[in-house]
Amino acid sequence: MCEYRPEDLRMAELLFPQVTKTPAELEESRPKRNLPEGAKVTRFAPSPTGFVHFGGLFPAMVGERLAHQSGGVFYLRIEDTDAKREVEGAAQSLIRTLAYYGVNFDEGVTESGEVGDFGPYYQSKRAEYYHIYAKQLVKEGKAYPTFTTKEEQEELDRVDKKQENKTKDWHEAEAARKEAQNAWRAITPEEAEAHLKAGDLFVLRLRAEGDAEKKIPFTDLVRGKLEIPENDEDFVLLKSDGIPTYHFAHAVDDHLMETTHVVRGEEWLPSLAKHLMLFSYLGFKLPKYMHIAQLMKLDESGNKKKLSKRDMGANMEDYRRLGYAPACVTEYVMTLLNSNFEEWRTANPEKDYTEFPFSPKKMSVSGCLFDLDKLSDVSKNTIARMSAKEVSDGVMDWAKDFAPEFYAHLSANPAMSEEIFAIGRGGKKPRKDLSRWSDAKDYMGFFYRQYLEKPVWEEKFDRAEIADLLNDYLQNYTLDCDNSGWFDFVKSLAEKHGFCPDTKAYKADPAPWKGSVADVSGFLRLAITGKNNSPDLFTVMSILGKEESDERLRLAISACN
Ligand code: GLU
Repeated sequence: MCEYRPEDLRMAELLFPQVTKTPAELEESRPKRNLPEGAKVTRFAPSPTGFVHFGGLFPAMVGERLAHQSGGVFYLRIEDTDAKREVEGAAQSLIRTLAYYGVNFDEGVTESGEVGDFGPYYQSKRAEYYHIYAKQLVKEGKAYPTFTTKEEQEELDRVDKKQENKTKDWHEAEAARKEAQNAWRAITPEEAEAHLKAGDLFVLRLRAEGDAEKKIPFTDLVRGKLEIPENDEDFVLLKSDGIPTYHFAHAVDDHLMETTHVVRGEEWLPSLAKHLMLFSYLGFKLPKYMHIAQLMKLDESGNKKKLSKRDMGANMEDYRRLGYAPACVTEYVMTLLNSNFEEWRTANPEKDYTEFPFSPKKMSVSGCLFDLDKLSDVSKNTIARMSAKEVSDGVMDWAKDFAPEFYAHLSANPAMSEEIFAIGRGGKKPRKDLSRWSDAKDYMGFFYRQYLEKPVWEEKFDRAEIADLLNDYLQNYTLDCDNSGWFDFVKSLAEKHGFCPDTKAYKADPAPWKGSVADVSGFLRLAITGKNNSPDLFTVMSILGKEESDERLRLAISACN
């Protein structure tokens, strides 16, 4: 047991008369985690600002992977200590958004309330805990109050310690700051009591006995070995309303909630020295840290810049509306998170991404480049691997909210929609027409008469000729055969009308022909689908049925006039 100085004890009593428990007593009354060796406890700890940034999905997925890959726990803590920035309902919408991307929490804040023994999981409900540790720091002489006005406080925090070029002005400001700080450091319990009696509010600061010239070796799981200058700033632990700063709350919460791995954005790296000091002053075991590189994008001039809130693709809420399947987005995030993911995916096309052995060591240190084209590419491949039912359901689910008329067509006959999406699926070279659900209407909307476009015939062919050919086809074709039988018929029809039945032979010697069988297929495709590109035409007609195909041929013939 350490000996407290009487003046520190008195100061602690004056500042925190309501706190009766010691940290030891608190911790004794708290549950302990009982997890197998190697199980990681991670958390996602957003401030509920109502905006889920694509960059937020990063640490969330890393935390989720690390915990669940190791049989550990992933929990959600809401860092709502800044009431000014808070948005009503933001936590709930964040939970729903993350759940939509398959990021689920075992513990913490959930849609139906708080789950788990380590709560409360809202920082705003944890004042009691912060104050217990704050009082202890004061008792040990490691923290002291400053009863400053806002202006005086700004003066204390004014000097930029990291300023490279330390000018004469800087040194003067620093000397003034030091003097003010030393004066406050020497505050006596009597002075504090007088302030308290006068109703003055105080800010609690850490008495930092560090030396910025000294470097502490530190290993970050993403960034490797680092050297951090020791903290020499008497930074704020509790603000004048008794609410902790991020630094203090981070130490107390991650200690009490037994976080083993802190996964957070690299913007916290400059504060790390403060956290190392806090954990040491508080006697807490230091968790492992992973500082994740920020998401970058290329601007118009090709320079890398931070993906900002206003950038296309930054807001996670947009993805659903734009029709990106959650599986595509998570797949894309995995390619950004681990450099070897794509190689693994090629070798394991059928596996769920959660089977990939995620490793912090394979993460980028310099910043990942966010690229919508790459997202599109990854999405096409991801959708190509899905079953027809998954695609059909995905499209319908999207259309229900964002394209109700299209949804009405799809949902009137879901079996047909599934049949359509089954075309060209599977096999060695699956079709890759969709990168988003919202591409579906363009791709297969022509199946519904309402979206069928009028054929636009190529100028180089005589319209009467096309009409004649379509008419002959209409009178004589059958769908009661297989694809190759049908194509044999198309070839013979082509030849009959002066179109070469063999495209290779046509290329070698086009002169005797009006065109080739490819042109004839093109007329039929345009007649049936209104498009120059479509999935396999025979299958399309089989799904449409003879009657509807006939009707479309008749319409196309009349469009030749
Ligand atoms: N509330 C902090 C933020 O949103 C959390 C950082 C952390 O994960 O520790 O940036």
